[in-house]
Amino acid sequence: MTPAISKVIFVALVIGWYLIRYEYARRSRRERVVSSARGPLETALLLISLSGLGLVPLIYIATAVPRFAAHSFHPILGWLGLFFAIAALGMFHLTHRALGRNWSISLDVRENHELVTNGIYRRVRHPMYSAFWLWAIAQALLLPNWVAGLSGLAGFGILFFGRVTREERMMLETFGASYRAYMARTGRVFPSISRNSFSETDLKGSGTRDDQELNTSNSVPFLQHPAKNDLPGC
Ligand code: SAH
Repeated sequence: MTPAISKVIFVALVIGWYLIRYEYARRSRRERVVSSARGPLETALLLISLSGLGLVPLIYIATAVPRFAAHSFHPILGWLGLFFAIAALGMFHLTHRALGRNWSISLDVRENHELVTNGIYRRVRHPMYSAFWLWAIAQALLLPNWVAGLSGLAGFGILFFGRVTREERMMLETFGASYRAYMARTGRVFPSISRNSFSETDLKGSGTRDDQELNTSNSVPFLQHPAKNDLPGC
């Protein structure tokens, strides 16, 4: 493994991701959006993430800028980076296939939106974000430059932490008890470590009227009734 090969691997990761996404993005664009949490914040978060995961590393690969941030390359890190890049692409494929027409680049609810809880979504509720974390780790391992290597972790981290609670609130408002039960039995990005990583106050005030009637306890209701109120087929 050489620095040149590791850069080629990163470019292949970007191209592979684009090819996986292109077809699903084309299909899901045909589905009408019935509600959306898009706005200036979402646009800013998307641009920051795009810069960190794509723009900054690709400029570095093309020009070696910023030169002051260069550091030495270790072949073992390159091999590890290859492993993470392959894992990221595998996860992207599985998540796009599972979400299908329900996918959106931002926070949208589509007409006849289905809550996907099967396949790769069975134990983790944000596996596509897990895939982006894998990408960011691959980038840090593959590119021997502090700025270009770490910009993915920083850029995607800002998107993830700026979005995930709002996304879960939107899903709770849309799917109510089903999503609440789904949250109780899944982790955000890992199956177990972050299983109950969301906080009740993060999501305070969310949920549908159905939820309020279905949940009889006031304390951490979505943790106390796992799967009880889940709807068939969700
Ligand atoms: N956060 C998810 C999906 C990212 S794509 C993941 O990381 O895998 C963002 C869109 O997916 C949002 O507009 C939301 O409407 C939709 N979405 C998120 N989770 C979903 C699920 N479990 N089932 C169906 N749609 C979902």
